[in-house]
Amino acid sequence: MNEERLCQPCEVPITDKLPPCPLQCKSPKCKSYKKRAPIDSTKTPIVWILGGPGSGKGTQCDKIIAKYGFIHLSTGDLLREEVRSGSERAKCLTAIMERGELVPNDLVLDLLKEAMLQHAEKARGFLIDGYPREKSQGIAFEQTIAPATVIIYFEAKSETLTKRLLGRAVSSGRADDNEETIKLRLKTFLDNNDQVLAQYPDKLRRINAEQSVDAIFGEVQKILDPIVARAAA
Ligand code: ADP
Ligand code: MG
Repeated sequence: MNEERLCQPCEVPITDKLPPCPLQCKSPKCKSYKKRAPIDSTKTPIVWILGGPGSGKGTQCDKIIAKYGFIHLSTGDLLREEVRSGSERAKCLTAIMERGELVPNDLVLDLLKEAMLQHAEKARGFLIDGYPREKSQGIAFEQTIAPATVIIYFEAKSETLTKRLLGRAVSSGRADDNEETIKLRLKTFLDNNDQVLAQYPDKLRRINAEQSVDAIFGEVQKILDPIVARAAA
């Protein structure tokens, strides 16, 4: 009698699958395959948008969405949304934040990955806004999801950032747009940012964010136009 050999991760007979796990057998029964994020960042560009608080990430993301139809994901928004949802995970999150601690990287990454997978089929590209905040987050993202296609960094002086955030505070109603919190956020950002940037010399594009919104978007388009054209080719 011929004993059927089963593939360990998905328990499908090995003969049913070509190539076998952990390659891309694409069997819906394959646990290994399901864990893989089906995002190919050469076809669906993944753009990390980095810059200090107030550097204009949100402003430029709006313009990028309007022109390129990318999906915009901000980890801050995802976390705030999760807290509102009242899920089990949200209860942990609220408890952590009430203790004033940092949310674990794994949780942030899970939220990002889930949101990306929801849109994976139809997305023309992804804008990841304000992530990674530290070196280890960048490494984990690329290992778990997919390599970033390009990294855009909006560079501006601390005085400029503070001035803009105080301006935004008037209309945003965000509790963290006050002078004391701004100082802390800037310090946290500056402490981590150089290490994040140093990790990606080849993918990094720096833009002077002291310019007008339209001048900055002009530079953004020079970076994204060829990437979008290559992805569509
Ligand atoms: P971030 O998302 O990086 O924190 P925002 O896009 O929310 O930054 O911008 C913060 C504030 O700065 C907003 O009030 C916005 O209108 C203003 N702002 C953004 N880009 C510019 C710019 N190039 N010049 C002047 N003000 C800007
Ligand atoms: Mg923002």
